[in-house]
Amino acid sequence: MALEFARAEELEKICRRIIENFYPSLESADIVVVYRSKTFPDSPATCARIEKISGLRAWLWTERSGEQETFFLIQIVVPNWETLSAAQQVAILDHELCHIEVSETTAELVLRDHAIEEFPEIVERHGAWHEGLQIFGEALERGESDKDSRAELIDRLLNG
Ligand SMILES: [Zn+2]
Repeated sequence: MALEFARAEELEKICRRIIENFYPSLESADIVVVYRSKTFPDSPATCARIEKISGLRAWLWTERSGEQETFFLIQIVVPNWETLSAAQQVAILDHELCHIEVSETTAELVLRDHAIEEFPEIVERHGAWHEGLQIFGEALERGESDKDSRAELIDRLLNG
């Protein structure tokens, strides 16, 4: 079967709610979400991926009049996405939006890498061996101790 795409407007709505709640600097960001029917060949386990669309690719998407509106595209990998709970799906959308930041030099919205790039084995052997891991560890502790309010948050983000 061919690779197919479909606009995911209901997920765009959830992204808007996540932005309203947690990302005031992204208020002006244009977020487009699409379902893709097949996994990414380079990363079969990936559930979602964000990219910034500008220049020629933005021109192809928009009016094709010479103007191009930059936007952010989130692709949702349907076969992987379907295995997740609603709460996990919201966490993934939040994760993808967290990739967008305001550039300190140009004030434009740009993509950033993950704060933490680490293997479980290394943390097991060496603990929180740098500051980023310490911050991550503390955040994980707070997040895990706050499970009661999470159900309410997820419901609010899903249903408005
Ligand atoms: Zn990511």
